[in-house]
Amino acid sequence: MSFPMNPAEARVDLSAIRDNIALLKEHAPGAETMAVVKADGYGHGLVACGRAALEGGATRLGTAYIREALELRAAGITAPILSWIIPPGEPLDQAVAQDVELSAATPALVDEIARTAHRAGRTARVHLKADTGLTRGGAALDEWPALVDRAMARQAEGTVEVAGLWSHFACADIPGHPSVDAQLAVFDEALVIAEKAGAGGSHVLRHIANSAAVLTLPQARYDMIRAGIAVVGLSPVPELGDFGLRPAMTLVARTALAKRVPAGSGVSYGHLYVTDRETTLGLIPLGYADGVLRHATNRAEVLAGGRRRRIAGRVCMDQFVIDMGDDPLEEGDEVILFGDGSQGEPTAQEWADSLGTITHEIVTRIGSRVPRVYR
Ligand SMILES: *Cc1c(COP(=O)(O)O)cnc(C)c1O
Repeated sequence: MSFPMNPAEARVDLSAIRDNIALLKEHAPGAETMAVVKADGYGHGLVACGRAALEGGATRLGTAYIREALELRAAGITAPILSWIIPPGEPLDQAVAQDVELSAATPALVDEIARTAHRAGRTARVHLKADTGLTRGGAALDEWPALVDRAMARQAEGTVEVAGLWSHFACADIPGHPSVDAQLAVFDEALVIAEKAGAGGSHVLRHIANSAAVLTLPQARYDMIRAGIAVVGLSPVPELGDFGLRPAMTLVARTALAKRVPAGSGVSYGHLYVTDRETTLGLIPLGYADGVLRHATNRAEVLAGGRRRRIAGRVCMDQFVIDMGDDPLEEGDEVILFGDGSQGEPTAQEWADSLGTITHEIVTRIGSRVPRVYR
């Protein structure tokens, strides 16, 4: 297969996304599968990632923001979509008109959604969010009954339908963390309160499991799983291995310039790397504006000419340098920053480890200048 001559591109293997969904579904038999495709499908492309996930068997999609859901709708995707970050001024009317399900954690937002639905002559589907211990979004347990009561009142009017009861883990990626059981206990309490208030029918989806929980906490799967990082094939709990997931993205760049320099040459801004011998340097056209974190300076590795090379000197906005020694490198030669590792290249996990971050940040930071190419 041939690719256009982009200076750099992120190649996304959509079959990996489909396979990862199939693997996740095996871990959660009987549950619905929501593929979380926020942040441009974790950098892999919102629409392409969403479509591939649905083809692979996902039954729903999830996004942080309404505008992401609307982009999926504009692309013709009709599957149920839930959006959960709803600051004031969000396009609730468009969300309701296009059947985007909405998370609510306050009676005020339930009311606003209900008013919007009333104006449109529709019923808005709402997932009530409980804060079971993450202490981020969601209604704390003492606010929960009032939230449920308000939603049930609006449901009685016909403007709102309670379609889900949900929460999110703080530490599902830390095996054995005591907060997991504590959160599940609070979630179960919240579910009982909601059921007593009448929000407990079998059509109401109860969900709390992110990727880490799907793969390590069978007791947390409930009626639906919400997986993001595992969908794109990256391990949610790296210390427990890759779970058989397949990384979907390979980030490549073509060498822009190769040149011979003498020993003692200070390389890139700040001269943080100095050649210790006469050597061949390669200029790679990706920089921190493209998501190659500046922190990768003298740290992260790439595959060039069949071998690993550490980034030599400061990562710049648009470029960085590698030191080839006496190995050949020509302009146009492809280097791989990360991929699934099958050609000896680093993985996104290795990049994350060497930069002290998580793979979520490595893939979502890849900038808009880098075309996503699908196969
Ligand atoms: C991002 C997100 C997910 C997916 O998390 P992963 O760890 O990537 O699987 C699930 N639920 C919510 C609310 C999220 O914000």
